[in-house]
Amino acid sequence: MELKILTFPNPRLRIKAKEIKFLDPEIKSNLTKLFDLMYEKDGIGLAATQVGIHQRFFVYDLSEEKNSPKIAINPRIIWKSPEKIIYNEGCLSIPGLRLNVERSKKIKVVWIDENGLEQQKEVEDLESVLFQHEIDHLDGKLIIDKLPKEERKKIIELLY
Ligand SMILES: [Zn+2]
Repeated sequence: MELKILTFPNPRLRIKAKEIKFLDPEIKSNLTKLFDLMYEKDGIGLAATQVGIHQRFFVYDLSEEKNSPKIAINPRIIWKSPEKIIYNEGCLSIPGLRLNVERSKKIKVVWIDENGLEQQKEVEDLESVLFQHEIDHLDGKLIIDKLPKEERKKIIELLY
């Protein structure tokens, strides 16, 4: 099955993803397709929700050379710093939009990696922004939700 990136306002982007219990071959094959799509679209992260798969995983690559593919399965934030960061975010599901979004500068995350091993790490700055952005996708949330209602309406009218 070929995977396609869903774009706003597709209602499937709003479905909350379910935890993964087993890393079956189907998930592994979908992971490969997710990486292909992410690199093709020049993104730094792509969540399963964005291709209509409602399971909790995302792929990402923060390296400049785009040669460091990483997978986060069942990612969970267990701590957020009170200190904030504002980052100009884009989203492959809302092409053409960039927004300044305020998030925690540092977070502690737990996830399962591609080998089925639990990882725990404190991440900051762009990596922290990325984890929060992708976990939002798994919860059915988009960057556009961060805007006040009136501003959101204006932007939606401009985009569509
Ligand atoms: Zn996104």
